Amino acid sequence: MSIAENIQRIKAEIAPKARLIAVTKTKPVEMLMEAYEAGFKRYGENKVQEMVTKYEQMPKDIEWHLIGHLQTNKVKYIAPFVAMIHSVDSFKLLQEINKQAAKNNRVIDCLLQIFIAQEETKFGLSAEEANELLASDEFKALENIRIVGLMGMASNTENEDQVRQEFKGLKQFFDSLQAAHPSMIELSMGMSGDYLLAVEEGSTLVRVGSAIFGSR
Ligand SMILES: *Cc1c(COP(=O)(O)O)cnc(C)c1O
Repeated sequence: MSIAENIQRIKAEIAPKARLIAVTKTKPVEMLMEAYEAGFKRYGENKVQEMVTKYEQMPKDIEWHLIGHLQTNKVKYIAPFVAMIHSVDSFKLLQEINKQAAKNNRVIDCLLQIFIAQEETKFGLSAEEANELLASDEFKALENIRIVGLMGMASNTENEDQVRQEFKGLKQFFDSLQAAHPSMIELSMGMSGDYLLAVEEGSTLVRVGSAIFGSR
């Protein structure tokens, strides 16, 4: 199947509950252009430098989502154009995003990345840390960021039940925040191996790479 066919199929599978972010890390601009020419305009990258390079080469009506771990000293490179940062995992990072957004006269949409996997290597905040952050006066003073939801990555396992439980847990935490934080409307969960499960459990944004562009 072609890139355009893969995108059409996945969009149909997840509609109307969730929107697709095509994860293009390590893939050449030619492949992105193939998707773009088929009308697709929402892309995810996990590295700042790669995203900036592709941003410069691609048309400018694209929504760029930063989905990977972000170092504070690199925020300035994406602040002028990034549509959403999915991987906010510290208050220090959020402060820097706020500062760089202000410099660019923007409000940048962010997701708090929540740790849900049974694995040591994944970044993210615990629910307690996220609650603490959202309740702090320092957070409330930030005017150039908007927390629009949560992101999580399930364990990389064949155990479907475990993955479902991890997504369920994140959805429950998300629901618990809604009353106090009505701006939180997005739940970014699901990748090539588990996006159908994620949508069943309440995802609104799936981040799919290899199922569209082939393995990396
Ligand atoms: C690479 C990546 C994805 C997409 O992974 P696939 O398995 O190729 O769909 C999704 N989210 C994050 C954070 C990633 O780094």
